[in-house]
Amino acid sequence: MTLVDTPVITAGGPSLTQERRLVTAIPGPRSQELLARKAEAVASGVGLTLPISVVAAGGGVIVDADGNSLIDLGSGIAVTGVGNSAPRVVEAVTAQLHSFTHTCFTVSPYEGYVAVAEKLNELTPGDHVKRSALFNSGAEAVENAVKIARHFTKKQAVVAFDHAYHGRTNLTMGLTAKNIPYKSGFGPFASEVYRAPLSYPFRDGGLSGAEAAARAISVIEKQVGAENLAAIIIEPIQGEGGFIVPAAGFLPAIVEWCRANDVVFIADEVQTGFARTGAWFASEHEGIVPDLVVTAKGIAGGLPLSAVTGRAEIMDSAMAGGLGGTYGGNPLACAAALATIETYEEDRLIDRAREIGAVLIGRLNALRTADPRVGDVRGRGAMVAMELVDPASGAPDAALTSAVAAYAHANGVVVLTCGTYGNVIRFLPPLTISDELLIDGLSVVAEGLKHA
Ligand SMILES: *Cc1c(COP(=O)(O)O)cnc(C)c1O
Repeated sequence: MTLVDTPVITAGGPSLTQERRLVTAIPGPRSQELLARKAEAVASGVGLTLPISVVAAGGGVIVDADGNSLIDLGSGIAVTGVGNSAPRVVEAVTAQLHSFTHTCFTVSPYEGYVAVAEKLNELTPGDHVKRSALFNSGAEAVENAVKIARHFTKKQAVVAFDHAYHGRTNLTMGLTAKNIPYKSGFGPFASEVYRAPLSYPFRDGGLSGAEAAARAISVIEKQVGAENLAAIIIEPIQGEGGFIVPAAGFLPAIVEWCRANDVVFIADEVQTGFARTGAWFASEHEGIVPDLVVTAKGIAGGLPLSAVTGRAEIMDSAMAGGLGGTYGGNPLACAAALATIETYEEDRLIDRAREIGAVLIGRLNALRTADPRVGDVRGRGAMVAMELVDPASGAPDAALTSAVAAYAHANGVVVLTCGTYGNVIRFLPPLTISDELLIDGLSVVAEGLKHA
């Protein structure tokens, strides 16, 4: 393999040439150099999906050190909804960088944090009085939502669902369902975490939303008891678990049960939030109003920020000093979030998510019609997946899934897999991707399926 002489690209953003371009095999020589250094310097537990060395990204592409331009159908796991190095984000963060970088909000506050809280209170479902608190990661915000719910209810138990993913810290590992790679050997886990069955239309024999909710509620009542239960936490559409959209009526029935039993309903919208599903929040598709909403990923154009937003009486129950952290609501991240939210609004990216969804669902359903190994196509907006199965038995086909993803990666398309059984290919393109790139990327995935 010859070393291709490409200039080092530093400027990313939407002005990058929007094309799939392979000038070396993946990974190319420069990427291989970085991977060798990674193997020596970085803990092996920090895995990676696509072995390249990124130098720039924007619009719908990621450019590597060898000059390859890959189509981004993952958005860094649903983070760069507004695209990488989105112009408003670059401008706002640069200005903030020149004024101040940190004071610790709980030592001496600044406007950006309050403005983000105001925006979250306005945008999240429900017109009740709300408060927000800001943190750094999705997992940290999930932990805080549970802390707050326990403090408010003076109860301790928490229920999460089958196939759930809530993070990698101790409490959130406990809430997460999947053993490998998230939990195995990392215990003991926090106590008072219980698990209920989900509505998974493709694999639960077609239970209606109401039936699946009744099944979950029965488990909760028999095994935990409302009098012990502080909160139920659920992803309105499960992310890592396989982009599982519960049957209609499932979420409203769980919310209603929570209301009737003084249990806090927490929506983990870390992956589904911020325009991704063709609404500000996925809860809106089912008309539910969560007591607490957890957000992160798509909130700040790639800067680390997360939040818990919810009913004022619940959020205000924790004593002063009980919530916070050194970096939570860092001024750079808040500037990025305000610019990101403005970008979703001004560039009509919620509408764009719906258009992207129509392309994704259309193309993937055509694949499903032609190929019985595509067992299910599901999702909302720009959060869509296909579940690959053995056509005869319906059993999950993780090997086929890996082969299709590997083919896409080798041919310049960043796709992610997910699912408890590792047999789901998920699509989370930046909302700034062009139809041309999206369709090209999907054709590569279709070729991969044919080759496998
Ligand atoms: C990614 C994710 C988390 C964890 O977020 P981190 O920022 O990685 O800690 C929690 N919940 C859901 C639904 C997620 O997708």
